[in-house]
Order: sequence, then structure tokens, then C-alpha cells
Amino acid sequence: MTDRPDSPGRPLRVAVIGAGPAGFFTTDALVKNTSIEAHVDLFERWPTPYGLVREGVAPDHQSIKGVTRIFDRVLLHPRVRFFGNVAFGEDVSRSELTAMYDQVVYAVGAQTDRRMGIPGEDLAGSWPATEFVRWYNGQPECVDLAFDLSVERAVVVGNGNVAVDVARILLTHPDVLARSDIADHALEALRQSQVREVVMLGRRGPAQAKFTNVELKEFGTLDGVDVDVAPEELELDLDSAGEAGDRRVARNLEILHDYAARVPSGAPRRLRFRFHVSPVELLSADGGVGAVRLERNRLVRTEDGYLSASGTGEYETLSAGLVLRSVGYRGVALPDVPFDDSRGVIPHRLGRLLTSPDGDHAPGEYAAGWIKRGPSGVIGTNKACAAETVASMIEDAGRLPVESGGAEGPDAILAMLSDRCPDYVTADDWRRLDEAEARRGEAEGRPRVKVVRVDEMLDLMRKRGEG
Ligand code: NAP
Repeated sequence: MTDRPDSPGRPLRVAVIGAGPAGFFTTDALVKNTSIEAHVDLFERWPTPYGLVREGVAPDHQSIKGVTRIFDRVLLHPRVRFFGNVAFGEDVSRSELTAMYDQVVYAVGAQTDRRMGIPGEDLAGSWPATEFVRWYNGQPECVDLAFDLSVERAVVVGNGNVAVDVARILLTHPDVLARSDIADHALEALRQSQVREVVMLGRRGPAQAKFTNVELKEFGTLDGVDVDVAPEELELDLDSAGEAGDRRVARNLEILHDYAARVPSGAPRRLRFRFHVSPVELLSADGGVGAVRLERNRLVRTEDGYLSASGTGEYETLSAGLVLRSVGYRGVALPDVPFDDSRGVIPHRLGRLLTSPDGDHAPGEYAAGWIKRGPSGVIGTNKACAAETVASMIEDAGRLPVESGGAEGPDAILAMLSDRCPDYVTADDWRRLDEAEARRGEAEGRPRVKVVRVDEMLDLMRKRGEG
């Protein structure tokens, strides 16, 4: 008789889709769990692992990337295999994976941006900040995007940490960025940049801004940058004064008041915070964005207690040649996988995939990370999120039928991949590219020089010792 999936000699076979932080924390929790012998195959559609750590975290925030040391150890684990350059829904389908594995976990993150939904949003010069981020981080899909940085003023819409990142990269002296792993094409473009002022727009007030203290304070330390905010924009209404009791908010307000009290030094570049304003239209000039029409807002408390921005009917126009909307990421449906379109997430209960938001559990399928809970939290937040999903998986493993997918053994997927996508990437292949990038970086006093074209990545992965 065949062994059950949770018994010795018949390990639990798991496919994790997406090799970003959530995928790695899920894999780590599975192979560390001593109650079960889990073998995990980690699939990634790009040849490189690490997801947002490679393509999202700002290049001048290298310490955050230290988490890859944990991920590297996961890749070395004897019960973990990495299959990069394999696209879910194209190279392998949901039904094939569920037939081949006992359990499948979707950890694909949030693949697109939210929109503002205003006229002019698609004018040339108006971009999602997420694309700008992926461009300066050398994400292959965004390498050829042409951001026009010959303009004097850029507007960043949103008050989250991504808005902070893109504003800081626009303002930081290129010689400082040159010490980071920023993609070479972006460094070159930023060296030519004419952007002198970045205006960051918050639709609500300073007490509602989502950015964190360290990130906000960092602006004040940038060489050659004056930070400016009008004191009257920092005045709190009665409701917001209540929110200022929160430690993060209180510290943000302190930092912003410090900025408001600063006398401009005449620095070559400037960051200006504006609060209580919403873009209502992007106005065109010479075929692209020329200005942003803003409406002033006031805060109103909704029935559920949320302080919402409400337009006052007062308008102003702010000239700007570049607009980066940084109003949040959004999850994208995976082919054939249930999706809650209203929230941009996979419907789940404790990580167990549901057939619809109110539906039943689809046995053997799970979600972790941003595609499970939405695009919030820092990288470490995914650890607890993955732990919840893995707890459900371990609980369910004992109930799997004997003939569950993993019974096919570890080689079935290898045969399929060799046939369909012979250019699939293993952990050893990735290590060769990793070392080649690091070697190139060492020569320039940088953490790494990123390879940004898939063909070149694959070439370097196969040719041991080059780079
Ligand atoms: P976020 O923190 O959710 O911020 C989104 C911002 O966009 C909010 O200020 C929101 O304002 C605003 N917004 C939404 N819709 C808008 C609209 N239609 N018009 C104007 N403003 C609008 O999202 P994020 O910045 O994309 O960050 C995603 C997650 O990654 C966050 O958890 C963040 O902390 C994390 N992250 C962390 C770091 C770091 O640790 N250094 C770096 C980058 C990202 P409302 O509050 O009014 O909705």
C-alpha cells in the first residue's frame, strides 16, 4: 500500500509559486517544521529570486536587503529546489501543479499599481511609481521605460513609503546612488536629471500619512536638498489631534514641524510636502503632462470611524512635467485561480484558498503574502503571514488522501520543465549570476552591478566563472 503524504519515506510535496519574501518565509517554515518532512519546489517567473527585495527595496537601503542571507540559506536546504524562469499559467498550469504536488501555495505578491481614476492619468509623463521603482532596480520588464527627467518639477502622489522611496531617489545626488546597486541605466539617466523640485501630495493630513519615522527623517539628511512644508499645512483638526497620540504619528509630526521651521539653505534640490490636496486632473502641455489640477480637501469622519478626504471645491494648478502616482499596489488574478477582484487578493481563510470570498476551501491550495492579505506591511510582516498559512498546511497534511498529487515523486516536474522550458533556472544557476554581479560590483566599490536583461542573465548563469 502507498504511504500517506505525511509519513517517513513519503514526504509532503509542496509547490510554492513566487520566490519573493512570502514564498521564502513559507518555504523556510515548511522545511523547518519537525512534525513533517516537507519537500518544497519554489517557482519564480523571473530567473532571479527575492521578488521585491531585488526589484522593490530602494538601492540606497542595502541593510534591508540583508534578509537575502536568510533566503540564501533556504535555497541551500537539501529539501528545497528553485525553478526560476518558469511562468505559472504559461509554462505550468494550476491543474498540472495540483496534480503533481500535495499542496500548492500562491505567494506572487501584488503585481500592479492602483490607479487614481482621474482625467489625464495616461498622459505621457504620468507613471505608476511601481514602474519607476522597477526601472531603477533593473527589473527586466521595465529596463526600457523612458522616464523624461528633463523637467524641473516632479509630483509624487501618495504618502506611503513607496512615495518616499521614489522622491528620495529623484533627489539623491547621483554620486551617492553610484555606491549602491541601482541599475546602471537608471544611474545614467539620473545623472542627466534636471528635476530640481519634488512635491509630495497627501490627500489627507500629516497625521494620516502612512510613511514611517526613519524614512521621513532620512529626507532631512540628504546632501543638497532643502525640505519644505508650510506650517499651516501641519495644523491638525480636532479628529486628527486624537490620532497624534499614536507614537509613529507623533514622531512624524515632530519631524515635519522640524522641516517647517527650517530656513531654506538655497540647496540645488528641494522636497516640498503638501497635505489635504487631491489631484483631480492631469493637464497636458506639448503632448505630455504639464500640470496637475488639485482640489483642496477637508477631513470628514465616515460612519465606520474612518477619516476620509472630502473635496472643498477650492482648486489650484501646480505645473509639473513628471507625475508618479504612488497610491498603492494591487494584486493581479492568476490564471484559473479564484480571486477577489474587489480587494485584489486571493480569497482565503487562515491561508487556505477559498473558491470565492464566501466559498469553500479548495483542498491543497493556499496563499501567503500580499496576494493573501493585500499590499501592506514591511518584508518581515510576511514571516508571520507565512507562519499562519503553514500552520494550516501542516494541519491539513494529516488529512490528505493517499493518492494525493505528490505521490508522483520529485522527478515528474523535472521532465515537464525540461520539455516545456529547458531554460529553467536552478539555485546553482542563480548562484553563478549572483557571484558574477557581486564581482562586477566589487570592481566598482558597489554591492553588486545588476544584470538587467534575461538573455544576459541566462548566459552568465550557464558560463561558470565569467562576469
Ligand atoms: P501605502 O502605505 O498603502 O500608501 C499609499 C498612499 O497612497 C497613502 O498615503 C494613501 O492615502 C494614498 N492614496 C491612495 N489612493 C489615493 C488617491 N486616489 N489619491 C491620492 N492618494 C491616494 O502603500 P505603499 O507606499 O505603496 O507601500 C506599500 C507597503 O510597502 C506599505 O506597507 C509600506 O510601508 C511598505 N514599504 C516599506 C518600505 C520601507 O520599509 N522602507 C518601503 C516601501 C514600501 P490614504 O491613507 O488617504 O488612503
